[in-house]
Amino acid sequence: MKEFLEKDNYILCPICKKEKFYPDDYFIFCNHCGWEGNLNVDDNIIELNGYSARDYRKVYQEYLKEHPNYIWKDDTEALEKYMKTFIDYGYDCPVCGEKGVFNPDYRYCYKCGWRYNYVQAQYPDFDDSSNKLSLNEYKEKYNKLVIKNPNYQWKNTNEVKIPLTKEQLEWLDTNNIRSDFDKLTSDNELFEILDEIEKKLKQYENKEEYETYIFIREIMGIILDNI
Ligand SMILES: [Zn+2]
Ligand SMILES: [Zn+2]
Repeated sequence: MKEFLEKDNYILCPICKKEKFYPDDYFIFCNHCGWEGNLNVDDNIIELNGYSARDYRKVYQEYLKEHPNYIWKDDTEALEKYMKTFIDYGYDCPVCGEKGVFNPDYRYCYKCGWRYNYVQAQYPDFDDSSNKLSLNEYKEKYNKLVIKNPNYQWKNTNEVKIPLTKEQLEWLDTNNIRSDFDKLTSDNELFEILDEIEKKLKQYENKEEYETYIFIREIMGIILDNI
C-alpha cells in the first residue's frame, strides 16, 4: 500500500471527507461512506452507483445525524436499507400529483416540469440538486402559476414563444431581465424571470405611475399566457 509521504499529496473523499485518496486515483471506493465513483466528481452527474454525489452526500449526512458513528465498511447494507425507507411515490409526481408520469425513460413531469429525484422528495427542503429548487419551493411556485393561469402547463423551454413587442423586450433589457426565452435551459430560469418582473411590479404598486404598472403587468400576462 502506498504511503502518504507528503501531507498535501492527497485528496479527501468527495462525500465524507474522511478517507484519503491519491490525486491519480481516478475511480474510488470509500470505506467510510461507501461512495463508489470518480474522485474528481461532478456533483450533478449520476455515477455508476446510481447517485449523483450531491444526492449521496445528502443521504449520508442525514443518516449520520441518527447514527453518528456509522462507517460503511462495518455495515455495508445500512445505507441502502435506509434509502429503501424513503417515501415511495413511484411514478406519481410529488409536485402536481399527476399519476404515472415517471418511468425509466422519462424523468420529467410533463405537467409541472419536476425532475424525478427521490432524495429531494424525501428531504423537501433540499435544493440545488437535479431540481435547482427544493420540492417545497417548486410546489409553491407551481401553485402560484396555476392560480394565475389555471391552464398552465409546463413546456420544454425551447418550445416557449413569448410574443412580446419590441418596446416590451426593450423594457426587460433596460431592467436587466432576461428576454431570450427560447434559450432558457430550465423552467427554473423562467421562474426567476417571473420573480424579477414581479419585484418590479411591486415597486410601482403604490406609486402614481399607474401606466408603468399596467405596462409591466401586461408583460407578465403575456408571459403567463404563453408558457
Ligand atoms: Zn467517503
Ligand atoms: Zn408534476
